[in-house]
Amino acid sequence: MASVCCAAHSELEQDKQNNIQSEGVGHNRSMGRLRQALIGGIFVVNSFILRMLLPDQEFMYEASALLGSLILALPIFITAIKDLYHGKVYMNELVALAILAAMSSGNFREAGLISFFLLISIIIESRTASGAQRSIEALVKLTPSTANKIVGNNETEVDVIDLVLGDVVRVRPGDNFPTDGLIISGDSTVNQASITGESLPVDKAENEDVFAGTQNLTGSLEVKVTKVGEDTTLGKVKEMILAAENSGHRVVRIIDKYAGYYTPTIVMLALLTWWLSPVDDAMNRVITLLVISCPCAIVLATPTAILAAVAAAARLGIYIKNVSDLEVAAKVRAFVFDKTGTLTEGQLSVARLSPVEGIEPAELLHVAASVEKHSNHPTAIALQTIAAEADLKLDEIIQFSEVHGKGVRGTMLDSECIVGRQKWVESLGVDTSSIVLEEDDSEQAGMSVVFVARKGVVIGWIGFKDRVRTHSAQIIKDLHKLGINSCSMVTGDRESVATQVAAHLGIEEFRSDCLPETKVEHVEILKKEMTVAVIGDGVNDAPALAAGDLGIAMGAIGSDIAVNSASIALMTNDLRRVPMLITLSRKAVSIINQNLFIGFLFVIGGILLAVFGRMNPILAAVMHLFSTLIILFNSARLVRTGEELTLEGESQ
Ligand code: ADP
Ligand code: MG
Repeated sequence: MASVCCAAHSELEQDKQNNIQSEGVGHNRSMGRLRQALIGGIFVVNSFILRMLLPDQEFMYEASALLGSLILALPIFITAIKDLYHGKVYMNELVALAILAAMSSGNFREAGLISFFLLISIIIESRTASGAQRSIEALVKLTPSTANKIVGNNETEVDVIDLVLGDVVRVRPGDNFPTDGLIISGDSTVNQASITGESLPVDKAENEDVFAGTQNLTGSLEVKVTKVGEDTTLGKVKEMILAAENSGHRVVRIIDKYAGYYTPTIVMLALLTWWLSPVDDAMNRVITLLVISCPCAIVLATPTAILAAVAAAARLGIYIKNVSDLEVAAKVRAFVFDKTGTLTEGQLSVARLSPVEGIEPAELLHVAASVEKHSNHPTAIALQTIAAEADLKLDEIIQFSEVHGKGVRGTMLDSECIVGRQKWVESLGVDTSSIVLEEDDSEQAGMSVVFVARKGVVIGWIGFKDRVRTHSAQIIKDLHKLGINSCSMVTGDRESVATQVAAHLGIEEFRSDCLPETKVEHVEILKKEMTVAVIGDGVNDAPALAAGDLGIAMGAIGSDIAVNSASIALMTNDLRRVPMLITLSRKAVSIINQNLFIGFLFVIGGILLAVFGRMNPILAAVMHLFSTLIILFNSARLVRTGEELTLEGESQ
């Protein structure tokens, strides 16, 4: 946590500790503050008016100013003392000292005005600093506070926090899901925009997952609770937003490190200024210096920008686990795509059953589908689908094992069966030379192929087809436009398939027949030259994802594996999020740099002007407020990034 800066930060910490979910704590506090600022402000203004109208009533207008400045300064003093008590030297001490100095020199109206402007900037700041809290409040509102729990034949209303795993709840049309869960009866359409940023509703049927905070649209559902609270996808998004708020840029980390020295240094500089300045102006300069040296703008520079960026990302269904990865994303110069499930839909369909002589196609399918029964690989799923369509009864498999990126094996009716890529099947002692795949038959060349063997003898091959995703070609172009010139594809598939897909998408570089470790190797080589992002579906690409400087997993909604192995997870399969993420991260980094520049300019420039008596305390307070505002508005520009993607009714 940035340990520097004004009242807002230390108080926000307390709010967080109290109860992050209690709605509007920050809001109430700043409303109270605002009232205080207004009342105090009125007394101060009153004093100016009185002095004009009744110049001889010195006691009256000085009293009004003193009262006003006390009202305004009190919250600042209290925070400063609290911080001191906790052993933290925050910047509040500088501000408090400045106000004290103004007061003790009998300049109550000035003290009042300074406190007024500083209090206003503190209010604005705490409103922004609690931005994370407000985004979270918005998320909390997405989940209802009660749920209809089904016990036996009855339905009772219970608090959502009392739900435990395995409970069954009924969710009616129009209601939001209270937790993550599995549909056990009913079907419906669900609006998942709050998590995925995708505005088109999705169909949901029995045995499908639903997510907390998404909205049930058409049917009444019975849902078994599978995840509650922080474990839900929504809970993870909450964590991400909190992390964004606590994030520090490297410059801020440096400031943090020296923060303990900053205040004493400024106080010393103030003493020096007082000593060296002309007597009549000394106090003025000291007060100005103390006011202007509070680096609120510098401290706000990073968190405000990152928070805005993370909020924009969350709206697009981009989940950034570690906010420092935003900085990495801005530096990415090379992309490595996994083919199956990433550039293609990964929903294979069986396109050809090609048994050797003496074997029936149905038998080939029967063997392959049985052995694949326990695998989640796209080929396995395709085989299950077609076997179910053909009403094949599958046999039990014992001693099943799967080798990622190679295939599966198991024993069926006492014979050992193998399904997998040709090289692997061969390495297990099966002679496959009787089968020759025709690479010049373009239809066959575009098929992914697995070999099937039984009792050490090959019994045929099965060809699968996949479809390239709608946006794949476009986003390769978009990435090129963003200056990312190295886009490569890695795949465990055959060369002929890889060639076709790469040509179709305009990818110059690809590697086919990869094993998971060959994919990692490719990434490691690229990494020597530039920052590399790897994109995969996160299921069997975990090693490659982890090898990249940045690992982006797709289709992460509801999949823990994807979220765990990647640094950034896209909730949907919409690849257009990728160039959007790059644009967003670059914008965020450049806004952070602008903010830091502006912040330093104000503080250093202000200190110089103050020391040489070229600024007065009130102007310093106004400048302080002004610089804070500039930073806030600058950061807010990020929030709208990517809005066009959420607004547009997208198809995918
Ligand atoms: P990709 O890199 O395209 O995602 P994988 O690494 O998942 O591919 O798999 C590479 C190849 O290994 C597949 O094309 C297939 O031939 C074989 N393979 C992997 N898993 C299985 C499986 N469960 N059943 C059959 N073949 C498999
Ligand atoms: Mg894969």
